[in-house]
Amino acid sequence: MNLVNTVIGYPYIGENREWKRSVESFWKQDVTEEVFQQQMKELRLDHIKRQKALGVELITVGDFTFYDRMLDLAVMFGLVPNRYEKLENPTNLTTYYAMARGSKDIVACEMTKWFNTNYHYIVPEYEGKRLHVTNNYILDNFIEAKVELDIVTKPTLIGPYTFVELSKGYDEKARVAFILELIPLYSQVINELVGAGAEWIQLEEPALTQSLSLDEVKIVQEIYKQLVESVPTAKIMLQTYFEALSAYELLSKLPVAGIGLDFVHGKKENMTSLRKFGFPKDKVIGIGCVNGRDIWCANIAAVSTEVQAVLKLSNVQNVWIQSSCSLQHVPVTTISEQSLDPVLRDALSFADEKIMELVQVTSYIRDKEWTGANVVSESILAIEALATHPVRKNQAVHTLLKSVSVTDFARAIPFKERQAIQKQALQLPEFPTTTIGSFPQSAEVKKTRAAWRKKQLSDDEYAEFVKKETARWITLQEEIGLDVLVHGEFERTDMVEYFGEKLTGFAFTEKAWVVSYGSRCVKPPIIYGDVEWKKPMTVKEVVDAQKLTQKYVKGMLTGPVTILNWSFVRDDLPRETVANQIALALRQEIKALEDSGIAIIQVDEPALREGLPLRKENWKQYLTWAVNAFKLATSGVQNETQIHTHMCYCEFNDFIEPIRALDADVISLETSRSHGELIHSLEKNPYELGIGLGVYDIHSPRVPSVEEMEGILTDSLAVIEKEQFWVNPDCGLKTRQEPETVAALKNMVTAAHKLRQRV
Ligand code: GLN
Ligand code: ZN
Repeated sequence: MNLVNTVIGYPYIGENREWKRSVESFWKQDVTEEVFQQQMKELRLDHIKRQKALGVELITVGDFTFYDRMLDLAVMFGLVPNRYEKLENPTNLTTYYAMARGSKDIVACEMTKWFNTNYHYIVPEYEGKRLHVTNNYILDNFIEAKVELDIVTKPTLIGPYTFVELSKGYDEKARVAFILELIPLYSQVINELVGAGAEWIQLEEPALTQSLSLDEVKIVQEIYKQLVESVPTAKIMLQTYFEALSAYELLSKLPVAGIGLDFVHGKKENMTSLRKFGFPKDKVIGIGCVNGRDIWCANIAAVSTEVQAVLKLSNVQNVWIQSSCSLQHVPVTTISEQSLDPVLRDALSFADEKIMELVQVTSYIRDKEWTGANVVSESILAIEALATHPVRKNQAVHTLLKSVSVTDFARAIPFKERQAIQKQALQLPEFPTTTIGSFPQSAEVKKTRAAWRKKQLSDDEYAEFVKKETARWITLQEEIGLDVLVHGEFERTDMVEYFGEKLTGFAFTEKAWVVSYGSRCVKPPIIYGDVEWKKPMTVKEVVDAQKLTQKYVKGMLTGPVTILNWSFVRDDLPRETVANQIALALRQEIKALEDSGIAIIQVDEPALREGLPLRKENWKQYLTWAVNAFKLATSGVQNETQIHTHMCYCEFNDFIEPIRALDADVISLETSRSHGELIHSLEKNPYELGIGLGVYDIHSPRVPSVEEMEGILTDSLAVIEKEQFWVNPDCGLKTRQEPETVAALKNMVTAAHKLRQRV
């Protein structure tokens, strides 16, 4: 048997986010393009050397990017939208970054989620113009590795089916034209690579793990038939990940030289397919066995056993042992995490450690022995130590969870009855105005928090500062004339970290960054133990604010599903259970707010939709427990207490049912970019609970006029009754400046007043 280990891709950000720093200093023009290119080259080569030193046998190129890999391909194929022709003195790089980030007067390309990850890619736009290969940068990267390091690498590209699926700007007919135009360009790039000495070409096709219709399968077959015929000397590795390969019986017969399957996230289905249909003898099988999506150390003995099971079923001669997907979704190395709880640290595995696991598994399959003395027992010990860690044996949490009964997941009475009671109790005007929670995090707010974190400022001094800033904004909100106020979230940097730091079971790393989009990195907390509410987390700030005004101040919390989806989560419990633990903690926080006299409490769930599984048939199961977690958090309140929620980054058209299921008294939605569509779907699918359709985009400093917002409100009146109608911006205002915020909110309030008079 021929065995090789490989990874589908390696993180490009660098151990200390060197990549991010380089990119951003180029944007700020702190370095010349020449220096920047040199820095990028060093990083690229460094990452290859690193993987080589760790023992990767087949190293990938083309996994490195200057911003985003979908954008790289779009530019390589000449898919530059016409509007960028207006750019002054464009160079390749300025056009590239203008597409990514917009320029003074040209809007950026759209950005959206990469499958079910928290990474966001740039959406290529097909405008029907002739395409051609502008610059085969993958060839340059391949040659660079060969010349500088004498390594023959495996170039990777996002495959044609996925690339087209994720692009936009075409209808059914143009789609065929688009595909037909792209195939020769893919062939050209691949043939040039083979000409330069490449043997294997990896084409990443995660879109083949989504549900596929028979027509779509036929398109895939046609693409690969044409493509493979046009690159006769290339060996194509069709790489799938994030789920099992769909339509396995047909697609496993594509005329490619190898197929990579995800045996972590699509394990059950891929195994069933192998059992039923076997694996083509003449192809290489890529066995994705080390999880590229989580941060936990693998039990390499168990992984090796699984690999052996796959080998037995597939019965092939040529095998790649690989990560389940690109390692770009995990941080670089655990070595940087010296101040973590050692039990946790030893049980972590980031990109470099995952490579070491792959090396071990390969060695075991190849020679029936491990390369180090105690590697297996060490990994098992580390996993066991974490499993028996007291942080996972919090009796109070387990007892509380057991005591939960069905009635805890529902409000005492139905919405219509609550609505009448709350109307009486709260006495709000018609078309009440409010905001989503945060106000501008000014330079002063950030500076003061940083000083406090560095202990240059005492806890009391910092609290005093937050209190003053809150008081200033309470006055401003009263002057603006808002009806339901917020405290402004000045004490928070982040929607999850703030709560995680106050609950048990969370850990925070120093450098475990992953890219969210472009150069923006996030450092998700790790939920590694039982989550327990210890003491009030938000009551002081909200109550302090409430004392300053006769108007209502909303309590402001992040919901259980968002906390879960924006963290790395322990894998010894079902996600549902962890969500319920968080929900119970929030339920106690909500009770504490209610007991302190807070009458309106908002529980944000911007990430609820993000957790949707790739396959539609699995949506229901996820939504059932996700919605239940929200309800468990919010259902313990009095009938008079009004629960709000908020969602953004969302397509709501197919999401109205789950939103209704939350049974929140009021929801505010980000809608400015999809207003028409949403109104249309509300027409077909009437919604009866309280709802505020965001009346202006908070991502832009532009101040919309009264008339503009009135227009939006008037349109919304067609589908929303007066009794349920709220008026609010799209999302929190933390990234805005104060003057534009005040001006926009004043216009919003005026628009609502005009509506009151008119309707
Ligand atoms: N309450 C949060 C804020 O206003 C909500 C942010 C979000 O939805 N992403 O900042
Ligand atoms: Zn939002």
